[in-house]
Amino acid sequence: MTPAIATECKADRLKQLPPYVFVELDRAKRRLISEGKDVIDLGVGDPDLPTPSHIRERLKTAVDDPSNHRYSFSEGIKPLREAIARWYGRRFHVALDPEMEILPLLGSKEGIAHLPLAVANPGDVVLVPDPCYPPYRSGARFAGAEVVSMPLEEDLQFFPDLGGVSQKAAQRAKLMFLNYPNNPTAAVATEEQFAQAVQLASDYGILVAHDAAYSEIAFDGCQPMSFLQVPDAKTVGVEFHSLSKTYNMTGWRIGWVCGNAGVIAALTQLKTNLDSGIFQAIQWAGIEALEGDQEPMRHAVTTYQARRDALVAGLKSCGWDVPAPKASFYVWARLPNTESSSMAFATRVLERAHLVITPGVGFGSAGEGYVRFSLTMPIERIQEAVRRIQQIL
Ligand SMILES: *Cc1c(COP(=O)(O)O)cnc(C)c1O
Repeated sequence: MTPAIATECKADRLKQLPPYVFVELDRAKRRLISEGKDVIDLGVGDPDLPTPSHIRERLKTAVDDPSNHRYSFSEGIKPLREAIARWYGRRFHVALDPEMEILPLLGSKEGIAHLPLAVANPGDVVLVPDPCYPPYRSGARFAGAEVVSMPLEEDLQFFPDLGGVSQKAAQRAKLMFLNYPNNPTAAVATEEQFAQAVQLASDYGILVAHDAAYSEIAFDGCQPMSFLQVPDAKTVGVEFHSLSKTYNMTGWRIGWVCGNAGVIAALTQLKTNLDSGIFQAIQWAGIEALEGDQEPMRHAVTTYQARRDALVAGLKSCGWDVPAPKASFYVWARLPNTESSSMAFATRVLERAHLVITPGVGFGSAGEGYVRFSLTMPIERIQEAVRRIQQIL
């Protein structure tokens, strides 16, 4: 029970957030587990593979060095910013200034959620894709901004119809979030699509925040590009990256934002008032992740690809045709023909198959009609999940 005082003390900015749509589903999942049911969770996007051992070893030696025990700075240690710049050059052939154009973050979620506070005024519009990773919306709301949704349609490869953004919204917009490879739709963006975003942003003076958390999780030879590879992108925007998904480091809390120096300076100023940087030992381990052996990362990608193939082929054999994603570790599946509510379907799948999948509506109203499967479980569990779905379809 939540005490009444706890509800009453809440600020309006918390009360205005939409209710957490997964409450019922979470409760049902916990009940089934407490009843001893074998629940398979393909809901959360959190890698099941361990952080590679060379990264863990680097943390251990860094922990024993007393020079890492004190406050860090919000802007991160210079060797980390330099390692990020080198990685960016190798991976995307984009030059970044480690002093002015790179800011390490306590996980990219932290920077994403804080960015609107640093750049948007109350009443400004923030353009947010729908469906989307939830912090884009909540961060904008905390800043008092007005969220205008950009629906992602399958016909447009889940890229927003930028021509469809009203002139009024565009004129009032301060910031636009984009995310490719996309969570939850798994779509990959083309250079042309990114160029359209840069064009709109330059025309109306909108900042673009591109979230590239899944840039390294890609299959079949696909190499997702950086938003900053598009000409003039750095004049309008920044890109968020994370070690979480690439190196199985979700619990470590380390990522970064890079690109436009003015945006980096604004977010740095905000953060010096909010936090005192990432534990330095973790920053040294982050350097090891970016510069050390990349074989474990390739192994993880191969593992996700095999799981993807097992899931897509298995669903197909049940008569449920879903596209095989080119990137991310999600499968975004249109509901079977007989279904209309993603919440009702996910609830039935949980109650009858003891399988957790995420209803698309949880990512925004335009996510209705879809469910998301996460590939962060061993292949045997995914095969078992398919057998159970077969029984209820
Ligand atoms: C997982 C995820 C992130 C964030 O990860 P951090 O652990 O906070 O770095 C950011 N964006 C998207 C779309 C994600 O799915």
